[in-house]
Amino acid sequence: MGKHEACEFCNGQVEQSVIRVQFHFMGETIYVEGVPAWVCAKCGEQYFDAPVYKRLEDIARHRSRIQKTVCFPLAEYDAALA
Ligand SMILES: [Zn+2]
Repeated sequence: MGKHEACEFCNGQVEQSVIRVQFHFMGETIYVEGVPAWVCAKCGEQYFDAPVYKRLEDIARHRSRIQKTVCFPLAEYDAALA
């Protein structure tokens, strides 16, 4: 690809990876696993090739078709130990 050789934010090295993506689309958040992405080794910023990003958008647009809902513990940072 070559476009993302260095991170736009911290100039860190960007490496190809397959990750779980938290994707925001039209006010909703979905998680997609196994997404090919480019991840900054330094700050963790994620970059996507255009076709990958488009597919994420398509997945989000058709999220009613998502079969698997994953529940995980979500703590409120301020309230958890109160
Ligand atoms: Zn970075």
